[in-house]
Amino acid sequence: MPVQAYASSLISLCQNLIRAKSLSGQEEEVISVLKNYFVSRGIQTFTTDEYGSLIVTVRGKEKGPVILFDGHVDTVPVPDPDSWTHPPFEGRIHGNRIYGRGSSDMKGAVSAMAVAACDFLEASRGNFAGSLVFAGVVQEEVFEGVAARSISKICDPDVVIIGEATGLQLNIGQRGRAEIQVETLGVPAHSANPEKGFNAVYLMTDAIRKIREITPPRHPVLGPGILELTDIKSSPYPGASVVPSRCLA
Ligand SMILES: [Zn+2]
Repeated sequence: MPVQAYASSLISLCQNLIRAKSLSGQEEEVISVLKNYFVSRGIQTFTTDEYGSLIVTVRGKEKGPVILFDGHVDTVPVPDPDSWTHPPFEGRIHGNRIYGRGSSDMKGAVSAMAVAACDFLEASRGNFAGSLVFAGVVQEEVFEGVAARSISKICDPDVVIIGEATGLQLNIGQRGRAEIQVETLGVPAHSANPEKGFNAVYLMTDAIRKIREITPPRHPVLGPGILELTDIKSSPYPGASVVPSRCLA
């Protein structure tokens, strides 16, 4: 495909994907936009995983490695559409950028992967070794990695290319993420007689101090780990005149 035609095909697919609102768990419309694009390029065979992700496999005539293009199609919500300079679901072009929810995370990359897979199939006419799998992944923003794992089980890739925005830098891995909830339990009492109870928040502050002394491990490629407190809640809240008997962090 000539560069100009490639660019316009890519831009219009990206705009159509942005126009299809796709909160996690509500990806039907965006998946059907993608399907229609593949159908328009002569691809009729689709697979879905158990969560509803769209999988397209482009097979070469010879055996070889399986390369997976992985892009999630859901986005985070838009709680304040009025504060956007450009409407979030129109895919407007301003300067040389497309604006809209999910344009960089990651409907831009999803469009590029879909167009590239179709162009490759067209140009190669199947004369290549291995297969190229495109996956439009659902529910990534809420269950990161869950659908991606089910897709990997289906296509067993040798190489996975994920289209997450990395400022045009090639990133070769991700540190992953875990959430740890710590709970301390005390004894309630009236704040006028705190000695009759045990303040769960004080226990928690001790625990936090200890946890902060831990040095997260450093990975030789991915760098230092991060350990950060994000929430702290005492109970009852508001405490009024009660020594809190429970604290969650
Ligand atoms: Zn993302």
